[in-house]
Amino acid sequence: MKEEATSRNGKRKRQRNPKTPKEEPNETPKNQNNDKKRQRDAKTQKSNQHGGSSALSKRPKPSNFLDTVLSLLSFSSLHLIAVEVTEVLNCFTKNLQLREKLSGGNFRRLNEKLYTCSGKEALDYFNEDPTLFDMYHTGYQQQMTNWPELPVNSIINWLSFRRSSLVVADFGCGDARIAKSVKNKVFSFDLVSKDPSVIACDMSNTPLESSSVDVAVFCLSLMGTNYSSYIKEAHRVLRPSGWLLIAEVKSRFDPNNGGADPKDFVKAVSDLGFCSSLKDFSNKMFILLHFKKKAEPISLRAVASWRPKLHGSDSRFNLVRSFAASGRYQTGRASGLLFWCVVSCSGLG
Ligand code: SAH
Repeated sequence: MKEEATSRNGKRKRQRNPKTPKEEPNETPKNQNNDKKRQRDAKTQKSNQHGGSSALSKRPKPSNFLDTVLSLLSFSSLHLIAVEVTEVLNCFTKNLQLREKLSGGNFRRLNEKLYTCSGKEALDYFNEDPTLFDMYHTGYQQQMTNWPELPVNSIINWLSFRRSSLVVADFGCGDARIAKSVKNKVFSFDLVSKDPSVIACDMSNTPLESSSVDVAVFCLSLMGTNYSSYIKEAHRVLRPSGWLLIAEVKSRFDPNNGGADPKDFVKAVSDLGFCSSLKDFSNKMFILLHFKKKAEPISLRAVASWRPKLHGSDSRFNLVRSFAASGRYQTGRASGLLFWCVVSCSGLG
């Protein structure tokens, strides 16, 4: 009985106190391992909280559903951001291409306008809406990026080898690059003045004194149906023996494609009181023609008696003819359009 009681007590005791020798086997290596693992986890968490250098690499793998969703979300939001950025970039590129196309189209339209109206009409046209001039020049600059060499740079180069005391008149100066690049005194003329140094006028009628300049420049600016009157104006303002420098789109002087014969053009200019001093056809895109003003007055009779050699089926489409017949020459829209086509093919249009 006593034994039973003891054993009963003992049982009771065992039940009350779990640390009985009989329960020793509970302290197995497995449990010890669990304890170690818990300690390790606690350490890891602590080091992550302190943001150690390897905090990211030591970051525990998502251990529950929330962690997994969060990590998935951060991945998918990164992916979404990448997609968004790509779309914005694509949109931006398309916009740029569209704007380039539009400005190219506007340029062609305005270029055609300048080649098919008189200088006076062009002046009125741009005066009504000067933003058209900006539009024209944005397109012009864009076209010029396709030219391996700019004619205006050839002229600047020519001037740099001459006395800086020579007075220059830049007819149809555009962005007045010559004035900005040389030491000479340069009078810059264009239809619209975007710079205080540029005088806005139709260049057939400049405010310059007669015989007051040494060099007259027309760089891709012999536009307009009355462009021979620009050359006459240059003759008026040039001193005797002064230089006339002309750079023009090469295709305008290709008789095989309906352009003027360069020889006829040179002769027509000479007849206005100049001597030809240089014909440079070496460039792919433009030609350079240099003249010197003759000492004697213009032989108007020579110009009047000059008869153009006609090229192509449309006799109106002739640079030299329209030049010689200035003042009475009425350019039809068709001839202007044809001319524009040639200029377009050259890359200017
Ligand atoms: N010479 C410059 C710009 C050439 S574009 C260059 O080589 O970079 C032709 C320029 O001639 C245009 O700016 C146009 O406005 C100008 N132009 C055309 N007809 C004109 C006229 N009648 N009077 C003044 N400028 C004219």
